[in-house]
Amino acid sequence: MKNTLNLNWNIKNNSEETEERYCPACGKKVVFKDSLIRRQNANGKNIYHFAIFKCEKDHTWNKQLGIFKTISGLENKREFLENKADNSEIINLDFFIQNGIELVNINIESIDCKIRLDKFISGKIEKYSRNYINSMINDGIIRINDFVTKPNKAIKEGDNISLDLGMLVDKLAHMEQEGEDKNEDRI
Ligand SMILES: [Zn+2]
Repeated sequence: MKNTLNLNWNIKNNSEETEERYCPACGKKVVFKDSLIRRQNANGKNIYHFAIFKCEKDHTWNKQLGIFKTISGLENKREFLENKADNSEIINLDFFIQNGIELVNINIESIDCKIRLDKFISGKIEKYSRNYINSMINDGIIRINDFVTKPNKAIKEGDNISLDLGMLVDKLAHMEQEGEDKNEDRI
């Protein structure tokens, strides 16, 4: 069995989003701020996912984030979800390799924004460039739900992103063997 490190992450868009739009209650164009409260509203076959934005005077605007199909047989419910704080962190793969970790599993418990796998990973991993991370995805070193995927694949709630450090060590060694300067591809 592989020496595995499991990480459970909640991903929250770090910037506090604002959007200028017409507020019917104020009767003019105002700035709406993301309250970070999320609401799911089920309606027939769809679940609508909203972010609740508020204007200066506390009027609300529900910004639609996405629509999900419901599975028949499941109860349709309306609920308010408080957004969990972002607990993801910058990770150092070389440090994990040095400490005998062979596999890193990142479980995406929640995510409130749309982000590509390559962009997400390059923002969370030290030292490796986006180009190198793309080649790690194409080589199957980085997978989603144990499937080889494309760098532009969007990350969803419930996804498991695995990083096979054993394969990465082989890839790095192979590049050295070929006389390539691996630092070329790293920042
Ligand atoms: Zn208003």
